[in-house]
Amino acid sequence: MRLEIMNAKLPLQNDTDRYHLIAEDGKWIQISKQNTLWSASFLTSSEQANATQVRRIDAGNRIVLPGLVDGHVHLDKAHTLAIAGNESGTLMEAIQNYREQAPGISKENVKQRMKRTVLDSAAFGTTAMRTHLDFFTADDGTVAKRTIEAALEVKKEVQDIMDLQLYIMSDPVTLDDSFKGLLQEGLAAGIDGIGGAPHLSLDFQASVRALFEFSEKTGKPLDLHSDETDDPSVNTVSMIATEVLNRGMEHQVTVGHLCSLSAMDQAKADQTMHVIKDAGIHVMTLPGANMYLQGRSDRGLIRRGVTRVKELHELGVNVAVASDNIQDPFHPFGQGDLLEIARLSTYAAHMNSESDRLNTLAMITEHPAKALGYHSGTYGFSEGAPANCVVTNNETVSGLLADLSPDRLVIRSGRLLSKTKRSVHWFDASDCHVHSDDEHTKN
Ligand SMILES: [Zn+2]
Repeated sequence: MRLEIMNAKLPLQNDTDRYHLIAEDGKWIQISKQNTLWSASFLTSSEQANATQVRRIDAGNRIVLPGLVDGHVHLDKAHTLAIAGNESGTLMEAIQNYREQAPGISKENVKQRMKRTVLDSAAFGTTAMRTHLDFFTADDGTVAKRTIEAALEVKKEVQDIMDLQLYIMSDPVTLDDSFKGLLQEGLAAGIDGIGGAPHLSLDFQASVRALFEFSEKTGKPLDLHSDETDDPSVNTVSMIATEVLNRGMEHQVTVGHLCSLSAMDQAKADQTMHVIKDAGIHVMTLPGANMYLQGRSDRGLIRRGVTRVKELHELGVNVAVASDNIQDPFHPFGQGDLLEIARLSTYAAHMNSESDRLNTLAMITEHPAKALGYHSGTYGFSEGAPANCVVTNNETVSGLLADLSPDRLVIRSGRLLSKTKRSVHWFDASDCHVHSDDEHTKN
């Protein structure tokens, strides 16, 4: 099967040329510049239906992005807002309410919500995700085992739609042998990496050390929630960076949040950001959940809780932006659309110049891809990489972020995965009735 996309704008390559992309057997075999916009004689739709060997898509001068990468989500918690609310809007209430409800959630329910979120995200153009998984420890292990089994099954069931990485969140210093065994079994069965939130541990220093020891012992990478608090005295990321440097694990560790970094005074923040840079730590900023959960005790000027995105970027740190929580007690909104999250980061981190806006697109594509371990041979518009991309409905980066049009074609492994077309029907004014709907079709 051959796929051709012509008249494509690739703003992450450059903003002036048009491109002709060719994929065969699921991989890009040619990425070439066009001198002019082509008015090629495309196949009619009836011809295309009969052409089983070639599919041609005219991007019509619109922006085509490589497959979007959502580098930090919680699929097991997604769409649980109805069963676990959050009246105060604080992180602590979110954790407590979810913990209370978790034992009552069936494995099938976990799977169904995970799959729904994967499909929603895929239709918006996401082709790779890393999900963190809750590791419930207030019972005999039944709930944690259920989550691990559900996630492993979902990963397999959606493998043709989404590259899914699974990370279990734990605090090794609090685990007894049976839970340690459960964790080991999960990793042996296909869990991809080790997560955690050491700043929430009763002994955060011991927790950080234990997480690194566990990573070295199992050979599984680390992606840690870090310093999700407004308290500027909390600085576990510096300890994480020190462990990275001492163990020679540069460029292998990812952290999410870094809210307290934004609350620190400038001198302390500069020092912290330099050590993050030296350790080659990848950073995930999560503006949806941060702006929702942080600053809850502030009066007057309310802090956003979002980390120092521009300063980290200017220092050369790899910064990505991700969905985090979707319609759960930690964040009641979100639908898996990374363009929406990219736009949120332009507000949250003042990414307003032209190059900033371009950078927000890199923060949902190339930057998270790097954190998730992809490289030019396995990601993006390079020959030999999987032919994953999203054809958008806009010709400019500003227009893309302004419209958030759901009208997108999503290509995965060189085949058309989904086509979303918003249709608005206007009726007679006398009807005073407007109807619109989104149509998702899967091929
Ligand atoms: Zn998270």
